[in-house]
Amino acid sequence: MPRTLICVPIISAAPPIAEQARAARAAGAELLELRVDLIGDVPAVEQFLASRPTLPVILTVRGRDEGGAWEGGDDERIALIERLGLLMPGWVDIELAAWRRSANLRQKVGLVAASAERRTADGEPAVARARNRLILSAHNFAATPSDLRAVFDALLATPSDAIKGAFAAADASDALRVLVELERCAVERDTIALAMGEGGLAARVLARKFGALLTFAALEPGGESAPGQPTIAELRGLYRWDKINRATRVFGVVGWPVTHSQSPLIHNAAMAAADIDGVYVPLPVQSDYDAFARFMGLVAANPRLDIAGLSVTIPHKEHALRWLDEHGGHVTPLARRCGAVNTLTRSADGEWTGDNTDAPGALAAIRSCARFATGNLSGVRALVLGAGGAARALVAALVEAGAGVTIANRTGSRAAALAAGLGAKAIEWSQRAHHPCDLVVNCTSIGLWPDTGRSPMPPAALDPRAVVFDTVYRPRHTRLLRDAERAGCATILGLEMFLHQAAAQFERWHGGGSPLSAMRAALEGGHEADEPR
Ligand code: NAP
Repeated sequence: MPRTLICVPIISAAPPIAEQARAARAAGAELLELRVDLIGDVPAVEQFLASRPTLPVILTVRGRDEGGAWEGGDDERIALIERLGLLMPGWVDIELAAWRRSANLRQKVGLVAASAERRTADGEPAVARARNRLILSAHNFAATPSDLRAVFDALLATPSDAIKGAFAAADASDALRVLVELERCAVERDTIALAMGEGGLAARVLARKFGALLTFAALEPGGESAPGQPTIAELRGLYRWDKINRATRVFGVVGWPVTHSQSPLIHNAAMAAADIDGVYVPLPVQSDYDAFARFMGLVAANPRLDIAGLSVTIPHKEHALRWLDEHGGHVTPLARRCGAVNTLTRSADGEWTGDNTDAPGALAAIRSCARFATGNLSGVRALVLGAGGAARALVAALVEAGAGVTIANRTGSRAAALAAGLGAKAIEWSQRAHHPCDLVVNCTSIGLWPDTGRSPMPPAALDPRAVVFDTVYRPRHTRLLRDAERAGCATILGLEMFLHQAAAQFERWHGGGSPLSAMRAALEGGHEADEPR
């Protein structure tokens, strides 16, 4: 199978196109798309084409009706494609709708493109020397059509050298639908199938696994020709593009939103360190249960997508538990006790298991503190702030490790319910500052970026003999942790819990020990301390 090319779009003539082309090639691009409608400067394009570019080129003058910026009329556009097409052998991209609509376009572009309409009955080109290859394309910047198969069938029904479909993804379910079509069509013809927007990133990264002709990647942030394109550095660095092949297993994080998740960073680095043939992608899935069930339905119905493991984050941890219960999946006793699944693992025979690694991750973080290094927490008085998903995992883990746990939550009834279910005590939220304890754990979202100025505890209430653990890890050093350090308390960072819950996921998916130091290095090198991510 020919390998999938990385195509860098050129959307402006500044810096000069030849300079951008050189940089793209140096970064690993194998193809350029000249978006003449966006570049605007036709003489600059002509000059570049006349200079015999070292990378093959796709020539595109996209009309407004399919998301382009071409202001002129159809005849002018056709004349321009014809003129520029004569300067190059490469690819010419034309919308299927325009191709069907205009005999003039078919005839003129047919002169510069080796369209199949100009082939003989036995499929041989009727002209001796083909100049350009023809891509017929369909775009929808509003939605991924419900009848996606029909759209791709229409593209296949018209002779061309390649087909391209690019559709706005409402979420990762649309990316999966596009990948299913890609795999189907790529057997018949060179195919480019893309899902646009944040929800579509998986389709762009996995294009190589499913045999696409190409994927688009921007040379620099801001150089995207369509929403959701990664940069070439992200594609080749973070997602290890060069390693992706047909057998590569797929992992990802399901949540809403997941744009700022550090899970791709940590899991891709871990797989690289352990030399595992896998790739980990963000999979944003809209927040309601139906959206989650739709996504899981697509995953389950299409085993060839090779999705082998999923991290599950807000707001889907409870949805994952429900989905497993409704679909005959297995739920570990710990996940059941936590009432939340943050890790889904698919076995070779398609069975799903839901587990919770937040709890062991939190315990590992607590044990990283010298005071609790023995691991035995019996006699430790823990105050847990919050009664949501993170609090459930923390309370379950702390109770199991022998700690005496007290819960304070803004909504008192939730604290009481959680305490009753897991063998802890509940106090009023207003009492949290007056409750003696050895360990304070913040499991509320107070202090989370962008609300970084707030803390769930008044500084005066922080006892220097207590250890303070903030599960919030954006920013790393929250207001609570800074106040605690100032008060002389030992502190535990939420990032430590994040690291260990990811390590526990790695072990469930890949077996063996996790490459913890590579995962830590990826997290620490991934961004500036306390940078919002
Ligand atoms: P959740 O289920 O939505 O629970 C949020 C909790 O925060 C609830 O107890 C809520 O109280 C409380 N809360 C929110 N705003 C508040 C306010 N203004 N004043 C007082 N209480 C407030 O969320 P979650 O899944 O438990 O996550 C909570 C935090 O844990 C997240 O911000 C995340 O950063 C962190 N976390 C970290 C890790 C890690 O690996 N380090 C893993 C998971 C979660 P009510 O019940 O009154 O609404």
